[in-house]
Amino acid sequence: MNIMLLGAPGSGKGTLAEKLIKNQGFKQMSTGDLMRKEIKEETPLGIECARYMNEGKLVPDEVTMGIVKNFLQENHNQLIFDGIPRTLNQAKILEENLVELNAKIDKVIYIDVPTQILLDRISGRLICPKCKVSYHIISRKPKAEGICDNDGSELVRRPDDAPEKVKVRLEAYASETAPLVDYYKNKPGFVHIVDNANTTAEEVYAEVLGAL
Ligand code: AMP
Repeated sequence: MNIMLLGAPGSGKGTLAEKLIKNQGFKQMSTGDLMRKEIKEETPLGIECARYMNEGKLVPDEVTMGIVKNFLQENHNQLIFDGIPRTLNQAKILEENLVELNAKIDKVIYIDVPTQILLDRISGRLICPKCKVSYHIISRKPKAEGICDNDGSELVRRPDDAPEKVKVRLEAYASETAPLVDYYKNKPGFVHIVDNANTTAEEVYAEVLGAL
């Protein structure tokens, strides 16, 4: 089974993916993580991605879908698509790529979160540069301040989590990605999760497991 996570930046896609990977044997296909890896390794692809990511803008579809296609050659089952697709064009190309590999997306999990909560979550978010796990300075504190529980790395703030970048990212979500909800909502396998201020990550996870 392949799952797609759909939701705005800060909606908890990464946290949900982490639980599904740990407990249900999924593998993550996060275009954001793959792009950050290219940037860290200073590859030509990374340099191209950084031009957009540093501004909070979407990386062009040709570049993004090249990364996705490479990844899919090696893995195309038990995947969690996290942060991909972000445009209707990407959704269509992804479907075509999967058909060629005799695979498909079985469930689209849409995590629906009010904007103010997204902003609160992103402004307190810290990530581990090594294992990619995400923390929050209030709601998901690491055991030792600023240090990853899993591997002891020093936690960092994502450069694109700066307030002016977040604004651009949320605008990109509203104009480019939110229309995907309409695209998927009448297709089989669509799951709508409403996450409000009181919903915990565990509750979201339990609801998703029920839907799977
Ligand atoms: P994320 O880690 O999913 O929040 O993505 C961080 C940034 O990476 C985004 O703001 C974009 O600049 C870029 N990015 C990640 N995935 C995509 C995608 N599918 N299409 C275009 N840009 C992407």
